[in-house]
Amino acid sequence: ESMPSLKAFQHVLERIAEEIERTPGRGRAADYIPALAALDPRRFGMAVCEPDGTVYGVGEWRQPFSAQSVTKVFTLALDLAGEGDALWEHVGREPSGNPFNSLVQLEYENGIPRNPFINAGALVVTDRLHTRTGHAAETLLEFLRAESGNPALAFDLDVAASETVHGDRNAALAHLMASYGNIDNPVPVLLEEYFRQCSIEASCADLALATGFLARHGLRADGTRLLTRSQAKQVNAVMLTCGTYDAAGDFAYRVGLPGKSGVGGGIVAVVPGRCTLCVWSPGLDERGNSVAGVAALDRFTTLTGLSVF
Ligand code: GLU
Repeated sequence: ESMPSLKAFQHVLERIAEEIERTPGRGRAADYIPALAALDPRRFGMAVCEPDGTVYGVGEWRQPFSAQSVTKVFTLALDLAGEGDALWEHVGREPSGNPFNSLVQLEYENGIPRNPFINAGALVVTDRLHTRTGHAAETLLEFLRAESGNPALAFDLDVAASETVHGDRNAALAHLMASYGNIDNPVPVLLEEYFRQCSIEASCADLALATGFLARHGLRADGTRLLTRSQAKQVNAVMLTCGTYDAAGDFAYRVGLPGKSGVGGGIVAVVPGRCTLCVWSPGLDERGNSVAGVAALDRFTTLTGLSVF
């Protein structure tokens, strides 16, 4: 697959940044923990990464931010690589239509969460990764460091501590699933791993690079295989249908790419075989997706014609 370089898209990124700068409504930063609430919703960065690791960016594309639920893509991939299809006995792969932290569905589906990207499903994935590796959050961090080529990536332990203080709902999800036998580790151990996972600070450049295996049909940055080609397709499919909270339909309609968002304001997206993207802007809409982030990806696929459709 030899394709023309994306260098020609640098002007597209600059045009998008100018358009975003002129956009008035930018949403509100997440306010469930103080560390995120303090962020200016007008901040913006965007990076595009080719399969060979060449990265282009605009705005604050090298500024670390709280990756939050964007990390759920990587724990899913790591666990799928480790245990294969057995994972799907413990978590489904259908869009939920409920908010990311909803409890209701768990009760009538026997503690099996709808998908790996709502909080309940991500807790199951982290639990299983922790059982297999002995240290889920460290395994994730090492993977992100290797794929981004940035050994400075780290947890933000203040954010993790703040999550713990405000963690009643995640604790409730974990306990409810444990009551159905769908959690292996003691709930406090799982929550600590999960909150450290969410607290990882990384930039658009780091996360676009780290998502590269999904554009390379499962190959890691060093050329070794993480996922089979089918598994890479499967992760992309789950991102498309479940990756942007209960707005995945609207995201697919507007952007037309597999994507995963987080309440820190980051979104990663994949054009399989072609490139990965990461955009960051802390102002969220009422569903929890970055307002400028979705708008920027919408403009990117419109201006370049690159989408899975
Ligand atoms: N740490 C957050 C939580 O579990 C992550 C939420 C998110 O990014 O969706 O509530």
